[in-house]
Amino acid sequence: MKALGLQRLRVEGQAFMEAISREGYLAYSGHKATAELQPIYQQYEKVLGPEALELTLELFRSAPAGDERRSAQWLLEWQIESQASKPLAALDEREIAWENSAVLRSPDGRVIQYQAAPIEIANTTDRKLRLGIDAARSKLVKSEHAPMRLERLQREKDYIESLGVADGYNASFEAVTGISLTSLAADCQRFLRDTQSMWDDTLPGFLRSSLGIKPADAKRSDALALFRASEFDAGFPGPQMESMVRKQVNEMGIDPVAEGRIIYDLGDRDGKRSRAFCSPVRVPEEVYLVLRPHGGQSDYNTMMHELGHALHFAYASPDYPFEFRWLGDNSVTESYAMLFDHRMQDRGWLLRYTDLRKGRVDAFLRRAGFEELHFLRRYCAKLIYEVSLYVGDVPWGQLPDLYVSLLSGATGFEYDAVDAFVDVDPRFYSARYLRAWQLQSLLNDDLTARFDADWHRNPGAGPWIVSELFAHGQRDTADEIASRTKVGKLSFAPLARRIEELLES
Ligand SMILES: [Zn+2]
Repeated sequence: MKALGLQRLRVEGQAFMEAISREGYLAYSGHKATAELQPIYQQYEKVLGPEALELTLELFRSAPAGDERRSAQWLLEWQIESQASKPLAALDEREIAWENSAVLRSPDGRVIQYQAAPIEIANTTDRKLRLGIDAARSKLVKSEHAPMRLERLQREKDYIESLGVADGYNASFEAVTGISLTSLAADCQRFLRDTQSMWDDTLPGFLRSSLGIKPADAKRSDALALFRASEFDAGFPGPQMESMVRKQVNEMGIDPVAEGRIIYDLGDRDGKRSRAFCSPVRVPEEVYLVLRPHGGQSDYNTMMHELGHALHFAYASPDYPFEFRWLGDNSVTESYAMLFDHRMQDRGWLLRYTDLRKGRVDAFLRRAGFEELHFLRRYCAKLIYEVSLYVGDVPWGQLPDLYVSLLSGATGFEYDAVDAFVDVDPRFYSARYLRAWQLQSLLNDDLTARFDADWHRNPGAGPWIVSELFAHGQRDTADEIASRTKVGKLSFAPLARRIEELLES
């Protein structure tokens, strides 16, 4: 067998990622009942073997600063993640098959797919029935889903720690990604403290007016119904969503299908995930945007989010090496996704591309501020929880109590202990989201300075975004991109200010 060099690792690594991504797309979109991952791991054994890990570790330790260094860093991070996924492939297949077939029985006698339970809960206005569906979901999570997730989390942690990249799971994440979990968690603590009184002033009114319940009674399933915001449905008609969104992208000077490289998969289908996603099956040539319609504003929101990802991948420079197109700091692609979904907080955008009438926009923006504050507080609490989970100072058995106290405390909605291992973003993906939130606000300010507040329909803005941001894939980190903006540094401060403005709309 020929020795594994950098070029061969890139070529075969990319082929492996394409195969895994295609299988994921087919299974998560409901085209296949399960994902056949193990044969793919076998086929690409070489790129996931000890030789590949050694090669990337060696590159990481010896590469000079600059593109070679970042290239080595992204390759090592990918190696660690993929090597850890290989022994877990059987668990993943079992979980995907289970999720695609599991059903629960609603108190009114209907059989509901497990995947569709969050949609059902969000759409159920009768509170007793809503809590009943959630109780059935909770029972199923406790007996079947949570044990699978727990096993995966434990085995992944053990595997990463066995590689000895640094001392412990968190330190190895920090060493390879360059992201300080300690300082981000401290920023999250501060944000939770700084916005506590704003949250206490805001939550009761929305609970009362939208759901008619008191803060002491609010459960997480109520949050799903509250953020579904069905009172605004008339402003966000499903049938015209795709064409309005495409119109906006056209107006900013970008082809919304990227000359056919982006494929929209927006229909309902059994087995399709309730959470929308973007699958870059070949970057930049073949990118799927997948959404299972819930109805109303949340569809517009997720559509815009996934569109940001899809455009980013479909406009990545084809000349870049594999690692700059496929790998890197996912805070970057998440920030482009959020730059798009945050148009839902933009008065001009709402008036132009939705049916929200003028008289309703202020109420919608206040609500958007409330929703933004909720999700940021939720993600801050999630990151703090996940850091604890992986540090290992809290025994696994006590994590559910910690989860409930942190998440309920931050959001004001009572969380369910059964979700402690299901509601976890593996490999600190929540850190990527939080950094993306910060970066999108800097990018929005920059675009506004360059192309005015309505940059979303300025034909000069799209080409600039493509050449200055999207084309670079994920070569740069979120911090590097932030350093080129006027503010220059990622922080929660501009987000807190923007939320205050929205709440005063
Ligand atoms: Zn995303």
